[in-house]
Amino acid sequence: MPRKAPTAPRTTIRGTPEPAPVTPQTPPTQQTPQTPQDLDTAYFARLIDERMEHTREQISTLTAVIREVTLAAKDIPADDEHDPEGTTVSVERANEVALLAAAETSLIELMEARERLNTDSYGICERCGTAIPTARLEIRPETRFCVECASVRRR
Ligand SMILES: [Zn+2]
Repeated sequence: MPRKAPTAPRTTIRGTPEPAPVTPQTPPTQQTPQTPQDLDTAYFARLIDERMEHTREQISTLTAVIREVTLAAKDIPADDEHDPEGTTVSVERANEVALLAAAETSLIELMEARERLNTDSYGICERCGTAIPTARLEIRPETRFCVECASVRRR
């Protein structure tokens, strides 16, 4: 059963007031990485929202397909276990289930990225603390790492 993603409030990009400058209460040695000043956060908010929308559609489509395939599989008589069609059905279902899991993971990542935008900690590599290049964020707006750290982590 896929977890139902909470419907994100539709934030209006246009007319969103700039957040009031936060008076720093923290000591000079500030540990929390801040979203780079020159980052177009409104643009990335929109980008992430669009991708979340798309991913939600993907999830509901896949859920429907899996349900259909599962129901179809029930129509295959039990003694036809070695029927090649039965195999096709289970392979297809496994593929769809894998796709669904991937879609759910990316939806969670997108929601987390959206949260980082809200909390002003977006666009900073969580490993080395440097600003993630805009070009990378445009391709993977949900990323938490710069290219180098992402490749280090994959090893
Ligand atoms: Zn890094």
